[in-house]
Amino acid sequence: MANNDELFKQIISHAKEYGFIFPSSEIYDGMSAVYDYAQLGVELKNNIKQYWWKAMVQYNENIVGIDSAIFMHPTIWKASGHVDAFNDPLIDNKDSKKRYRADVLIEDYLQKLEDKNEKEVEKAKKKFENFDEKLFKETNPNILRNQEKINSVSSRFAELMNQSDLVGIKSLIEELEIVCPVSGSKNWTDVRQFNLMFSTQMGSVSEGADTIYLRPETAQGIFVNFINVYKTGRMKIPFGIAQIGKAFRNEIVARQFIFRMREFEQMEMQFFVRPGEEIKWFEYWKNERINWHKSLGIDLANYRFHDHDKLAHYANAATDIEFNFPFGFKELEGIHSRTDYDLSQHEKFSGKKLRYFDPETNESYIPYVIETSIGVDRMFLAVLGNSFTEETLADGSQRVVLKIPPVLAPYKVAVLPLVKKDGLPEKAREIMDLLKMKMMCQYDEKDAIGRRYRRQDAIGTPYCITVDNQSLEDNTVTIRERDTMLQKRVPISEILQSIIL
Ligand code: ATP
Repeated sequence: MANNDELFKQIISHAKEYGFIFPSSEIYDGMSAVYDYAQLGVELKNNIKQYWWKAMVQYNENIVGIDSAIFMHPTIWKASGHVDAFNDPLIDNKDSKKRYRADVLIEDYLQKLEDKNEKEVEKAKKKFENFDEKLFKETNPNILRNQEKINSVSSRFAELMNQSDLVGIKSLIEELEIVCPVSGSKNWTDVRQFNLMFSTQMGSVSEGADTIYLRPETAQGIFVNFINVYKTGRMKIPFGIAQIGKAFRNEIVARQFIFRMREFEQMEMQFFVRPGEEIKWFEYWKNERINWHKSLGIDLANYRFHDHDKLAHYANAATDIEFNFPFGFKELEGIHSRTDYDLSQHEKFSGKKLRYFDPETNESYIPYVIETSIGVDRMFLAVLGNSFTEETLADGSQRVVLKIPPVLAPYKVAVLPLVKKDGLPEKAREIMDLLKMKMMCQYDEKDAIGRRYRRQDAIGTPYCITVDNQSLEDNTVTIRERDTMLQKRVPISEILQSIIL
């Protein structure tokens, strides 16, 4: 579904219309890149978090969870490198006065070349029978020219970013003749570094106040609790600490709906291992994490790994799990081998020993760390975008259905009396009271049954339970399945066994 602007707009307006996501502070004209999760959104979001927590903490006996505070000692961010190096290169266009991330301008340029190649392939596919895609890519002069350009620009770009060469990045933007999408001009300022952390003051008197930061990642809350958890939890290496929580980044260009926000949520896990064993565990977690995504039943063609060309100074291996969002493949989750960098830094800055005593080797050492880090909001967007489907039915009518994996759906069942009389609402209420103790259910008796089915389709409810006159006679109901729209009649006592979540 790459590069589908129209579809993306539809998804955003559907999310608002049905109560998944609202722009923050809307009655005051909203705030850029801040969103509120509405009544259905919060259910989907909580289900995503729970699905992750179960897979990481409940199913792994050697992983425990914590919930650390957002406010932390300011020295933590000095030790982690965020005060000095958590920067993005920014550039302004002098004519439009718009601000951009310089690296994103170059990435977009490369993406356009890739899109051109994809289009060329699609065109040829339609034209020729028995089309050999590989051969076509290897021989078509336009594709070869673009590919050569992509390769040379990518490797120069990676090198410039690696060296934080801001002058070189500006020269590359000029050389590629990248124009501002708003003014169309090439009138750029110099590239500058911009720190992404929000800061504030703690304490009631501002003169004596300390500058503290809103955490830009949850990971540091895990590192600074490493010794506490290891000792009180009697943990044995290898073991992990997981956490779900808010993070804040003053993103220069926040766009693409909830993909890039200034306040967002992360689900992170730091896995502590013996030095020298980190690459084995890096591969292990790559596999585990992609299996987690697979288990949701989303088409695997929407996922790909992207190994980092430019490794952060603390990492010795890193990959992203990218997802095919409506605007193309972008990072959904990061998996990083962070060496012993963070714990060593905290040892240095705090003066406290952050070591593990290994009873098997009789040694004390700073463990190495594999991190898995996924944005809750990006996962939400992946699930919502992927589930949004428009269908034309056999009778020519249209329906919009959210084919959300049932385990994540906001409501699991809707209970619907066929008509609002003859004792059907009372019977339906009985069923509702039974089921709502087990799962999220919605009761609806307004409008014709067909319209009610459509409403449930549009919010992704996997099952509709309809109570009719026969229900009063033999205690049976019909269960309609969302995706197939097939209906079957089951005894009320067997409803729970008949739905698969
Ligand atoms: P990007 O390159 O897209 O800015 P990143 O590499 O800086 O992302 P990480 O620091 O690895 O991201 O953060 C881990 C995860 O947190 C990301 O994979 C993403 O899912 C999520 N995330 C990061 N920044 C944001 C944001 N501004 N809004 C929403 N989610 C985010």
